[in-house]
Amino acid sequence: MEPKNIDVMSKESTNIIYKKGLVIAGPCSAETEEQVLHTASQLAHTGKVDVLRAGIWKPRTNPGGFEGIGTKALPWLSKAKQLTGLKTAVEVATAKHVEDAMNFDVDILWIGARTTVNPFSVQQIADVLKGTKQTVLIKNPVNPDIKLWIGAVERLQKVGIDDIGLIHRGFTSYGNTEYRNVPMWQIPIEMKRLFPNMPVICDPSHICGNRTGLLSIAQKSVDLDFDGLIIESHYDPDSALTDKSQQISPEQLDKLLSSLIYKKSNSNEEKFVKQLEHLREQINHLDEELLSLISIRMKVAKEIGEIKKNSKITVLQSNRYNEILDRAMKKGAQVGLSEEFIKSYLESIHIESIRIQNSII
Ligand code: PEP
Ligand code: MN
Repeated sequence: MEPKNIDVMSKESTNIIYKKGLVIAGPCSAETEEQVLHTASQLAHTGKVDVLRAGIWKPRTNPGGFEGIGTKALPWLSKAKQLTGLKTAVEVATAKHVEDAMNFDVDILWIGARTTVNPFSVQQIADVLKGTKQTVLIKNPVNPDIKLWIGAVERLQKVGIDDIGLIHRGFTSYGNTEYRNVPMWQIPIEMKRLFPNMPVICDPSHICGNRTGLLSIAQKSVDLDFDGLIIESHYDPDSALTDKSQQISPEQLDKLLSSLIYKKSNSNEEKFVKQLEHLREQINHLDEELLSLISIRMKVAKEIGEIKKNSKITVLQSNRYNEILDRAMKKGAQVGLSEEFIKSYLESIHIESIRIQNSII
């Protein structure tokens, strides 16, 4: 196992969120002073945790559940910070939450997934943050709408917040899946591409909703070169008032973090770099060819549109689409492409063909 990389992403900034391999951990909710202090001290003892998290205002799906201790828990966090040296992080959903948390010098505020979906709420938070140097992490919205996530980042940037990070906590999906929130890795990867200087931290706890999947999701985020982890940890997880099935003890967290394998994200070995360049060149070339072929295919679709127009036939003929799909699936199976890929590939092609045919008809 490679030692944990502790390089700071941006050399100018000393803000903890830019530490590569950042670890935020702590209970889903602050419940009692004793629980917060006990958990914080065990987490600090691992030597692997940078920031203590705790929810004090809890958004609950159903009314009647434990909705958090509220402002009363803020002094507990200050005390935990004093005793352990850990930085602190809480979730905020309203302007009042922001003011209260800042009055108690909470180091990092995070905007929860249920808040990121609502531009009104994000704007209210942004308005009260204006003119401050507050560090803020933004969780992805519950629904897989990257524009809402980008919008939240932009609202904070517009009021002058410089230290922003992203938390990937997965997305709601209909029906049974193995996850509480499906990861849809392509969305945080796209955010990394759009905001290259913004740390992206993975939250395996809310992706998995259980304890057993945490390591594999955490490892996957490390393999994808994400910048850190936020994991729920409670000194006695089975007695937790919220999210107990996904929380782990500080000792289990310690073990999980020790079993992560950090591969080098880059190697300067000349041979490796040359091979990589060569293969990337091939990819660029193949992409260009694919695009030319697709453009030729669209021209044929356009011709079909023209003859349909002349014969007054509708654009969409579902039998034909099923036939195309069947053929492609058979071919795909022969050449090692998954059904899932073939379906989404053909769907995009089909939508574009229809758009082109519609523009004629
Ligand atoms: C949490 O972090 O405890 C939480 C409520 O998460 P999310 O906003 O991702 O649901
Ligand atoms: Mn939680």
